[in-house]
Formats: sequence, structure tokens, C-alpha cells
Amino acid sequence: MTFTAPIVPDPEGLSAVYWDAAQQERLLLQRCTRCGQAWHPPSEFCPFCQASEFEWIDATGEGVIHSYTVAHHAAHAAVEVWIPYTILLVDLVEGPRMIGRLLDAPGEPAIGTPVRLRFERYSDLKVPAFVVHARGGSSCTARRRQRRRRRGTGAPIQEHHTRVSPRPCPGQ
Ligand SMILES: [Zn+2]
Repeated sequence: MTFTAPIVPDPEGLSAVYWDAAQQERLLLQRCTRCGQAWHPPSEFCPFCQASEFEWIDATGEGVIHSYTVAHHAAHAAVEVWIPYTILLVDLVEGPRMIGRLLDAPGEPAIGTPVRLRFERYSDLKVPAFVVHARGGSSCTARRRQRRRRRGTGAPIQEHHTRVSPRPCPGQ
């Protein structure tokens, strides 16, 4: 027996809300209405304060590469056509970290590279993936905000790059 059929999610409950939105090319995150933190993947309770009250928010789709792995071996026959492919661990500007394939830059990306969400079609589904977001002030601003949040509210964060004016994002 060979396993060639794509592995697809079997959504129910909160994950159905998430996947239904993804088919509309929206990335939904849950945000706690008690402590204000956002999280992913969907769960019934806030992982920060265990509250069960939350709201759904639309993510901006922007983030930076936290880590990655390059797959040179197809773990499943359905992804053989991708080989080699890069799977990212992305820190979204809203806070949560999520996994997605890097679509436009094969090989080894630099940690900290700004990326932007782009949905790709996989089987009958649209699934979240990422493309490199090479230019644009909004990502720089987002990164500053993110670092400040991670380090707490201390001194202003020194940036190593020059501030640039916001530019239209690729594809807009
Ligand atoms: Zn909370």
C-alpha cells in the first residue's frame, strides 16, 4: 500500500473556524479578551492566562523568520514535487509563532528575514505559506514592535538597519 493522497486537515470546532477563514485567504488568530495575548494554533484556552474568553482577529500576515529547515527528502509522496523545500518557523507581528512553507526563495533563508503570508493551493485547500517580504517600512516597524514586546518595556531598541519609507508590498 502506498500513501500518495495528500494529508489534509479534518477541521472541527475551532479549527473549522480557522480553516474556513483560510479558504477566504484570511489568517485568523485567537486573542484573549482578558490578557490581550494572541495565540496559534486554535485552542479553547488562552495559553498565557488560561482564560476561555477570546475573540478572533485577522492577522496582518507579516512576520520574520525565527528558524527554518530545508527538506531534501519527501516525508510523504504528495510533497515529492516540492523537493527541496523550506519550512519556516515565523514570528508573526501579532506575537504567535507559526509554521509555513517558503514559496519564493528556495534554499537557506537568513534568520530575521521579513516574510509575508501568501496562501498556496494544496489539494483542494488553501493553506498559509510565506514569501520573502524584501522591502517595506511596515515590516521594519513590526519587527521593532515585536522585539520590544519580547524584551519587555525597557530602553528603546537600537535597529541595525536604516528606516525606510513604507512601500507597497509585492502583489498589491
Ligand atoms: Zn489570556
